[in-house]
Amino acid sequence: MSNKSKEMNNLTDSISELKPRLLIVSGPSGVGKGTLLKRVISESKLPLTVSVSATTRKPRPDEKNGIHYHFFSNEQFQTKKNAGEFLECFEVFSKGVWYGTLKADVEKGLAEGNFVVLEIDVKGANEIKKQFPNAITIFVKPPNTKTLKERLQGRGTESEEAMQNRLKTAIEELNHADEFQYCIVNDDLDNAVKQFIKIIKNNLN
Ligand code: ADP
Ligand code: 5GP
Repeated sequence: MSNKSKEMNNLTDSISELKPRLLIVSGPSGVGKGTLLKRVISESKLPLTVSVSATTRKPRPDEKNGIHYHFFSNEQFQTKKNAGEFLECFEVFSKGVWYGTLKADVEKGLAEGNFVVLEIDVKGANEIKKQFPNAITIFVKPPNTKTLKERLQGRGTESEEAMQNRLKTAIEELNHADEFQYCIVNDDLDNAVKQFIKIIKNNLN
């Protein structure tokens, strides 16, 4: 058996001992968090579930309601906010554009014995850390800002104005990287996937 397969077997053997935990993944828009998580989930066989956030931003052409996000009108979002249905929620890139983590989604994932992954911004991460001090926190960094810009441009999902907003927020977010327990530089994707799996493995208990 190859070393890689042995490592994977040890990892899956430990799953039964896994305590449900929250895993916060933050990092600038376009750094590759979604891409990285997809690979980790398909390759690690770990019981990870990504919490589906709610947002008031418009869906992209390939995005489905309830799968990529719960897409809410501003009114729907505010009603849920006032009813205390969010663990955290913030206006992320500009005023009036809300993102939030629904309590019910997280509770369901934890009750099923999963590691629940929250892909959220730095402000949301700080709020969750207050409520769940044992959450594992990972910050994903780009190799440099030029690469980040190229990835955002390459994804082709943002208008020029939205991209500028995201890049401005990215610079602010990068200043908070050292508030996270772990930092992964997403340069070579295979390498970043390996680092991510290793972090989870080191936190199995
Ligand atoms: P985020 O979820 O952080 O906003 P995405 O996962 O959507 O970012 O990735 C943004 C773009 O960068 C996508 O087009 C993706 O294919 C690309 N990408 C992600 N990781 C890498 C990598 N390590 N090397 C090159 N391109 C990458
Ligand atoms: P996008 O609009 O590209 O899907 O997401 C942009 C950013 O919004 C993500 O990089 C993430 O930082 C943030 N985000 C997504 N969901 C949530 C959430 O539920 N809460 C908070 N605070 N931020 C979120």
